[in-house]
Amino acid sequence: MTAAEGSAHAPVLDRVKGQPGVLGLLRGALRAPLHAYLFIGPPGSGRLDASIAFAAALLCPRGGCGECASCQETLALRHPDLEVVERVGASISVKQAREVARMALRTPRAAPYQVLVLVDFHLVDEAAPALLKTIEEPPDTTVIIITAETVPSPFVTIASRCVQVQFKPLDDEAIIEVLMGEGVEVATATAVAEAAGGRLDRARLLARDPGFAQRLQRWRTVPSRLDGTGARVAELADELLASIAEPLEVVRTRQAEELALLQEQAERRGENNIPGRSIIEDRHNRELRRVRTDEIRAGLAALSSVCRARLTEPGVAPQRLRSTLAAIAAIDEASTRLSRNVNATMLLQWLLLHLDT
Ligand SMILES: [Zn+2]
Repeated sequence: MTAAEGSAHAPVLDRVKGQPGVLGLLRGALRAPLHAYLFIGPPGSGRLDASIAFAAALLCPRGGCGECASCQETLALRHPDLEVVERVGASISVKQAREVARMALRTPRAAPYQVLVLVDFHLVDEAAPALLKTIEEPPDTTVIIITAETVPSPFVTIASRCVQVQFKPLDDEAIIEVLMGEGVEVATATAVAEAAGGRLDRARLLARDPGFAQRLQRWRTVPSRLDGTGARVAELADELLASIAEPLEVVRTRQAEELALLQEQAERRGENNIPGRSIIEDRHNRELRRVRTDEIRAGLAALSSVCRARLTEPGVAPQRLRSTLAAIAAIDEASTRLSRNVNATMLLQWLLLHLDT
């Protein structure tokens, strides 16, 4: 099989999940790769996995077979012509942008191309001009893939020099398919897909979180545990919030490890402090808030599906129908309010009072 025949199919690109538009574009791009691609999309949409699969297809002597030594090395991030560049501090430094420029000029060692994958380069700030020249005029044998969540203003000019590939949040079916392919049982895959909000990274995290199913079950049993008293409302709201402490602790531990690693790297460079530490801490706080919101949102979705199931019960009385519809509306309202940074305790107490009919 020639490289051209192989690239028409490029089985290694089958690793790009739930993004049919992206897949079509990448298969087409293999016939005549351009110098820079911008993979843009929300967290968990598979930008990095797709970057590596595309790099494997570019570097493979058989057009992306997914099986040869070249493909295996690329997928394991060990190919001599693949460089994955992650930012060192809170944003891309000028020094790091210059390093990327130097890498871009190298001659490929084994393949016809070398591929540079620049991860999360929307955090580029004052390094943008230093990076722009590299993106505009790399050697013909260098392909640059930038992954980013958004295109903030310092990044607009760079983005305009790239082929933009838009990633969407994954739908539930795609998430279920990926998880089942990774050995997760169908019931777990379905439950976590519903709670993952289109994010494969969150779905994977939840699928391996044994406490998650229990936490959802807690939310599902709430309607049957309400007894018409304010005391029970307060008690249940506290219980639901307390159950979120566990996943938050997991995230806090990971964040502490990240800081410890960065501190170690800084000390090795002879610096006392992590560059941009306060920006990293801000990001950590945002992440904690997001996990907390994600958890509450997943709980509200579980609660809502319990109520919806009631609507389809045979012979449901008109009074019960009305109160269930009101409960579903209150859950939707709580979900909307959640986006506005409200006090979680008050939000849940308000909701439980409205469910208690
Ligand atoms: Zn191959």
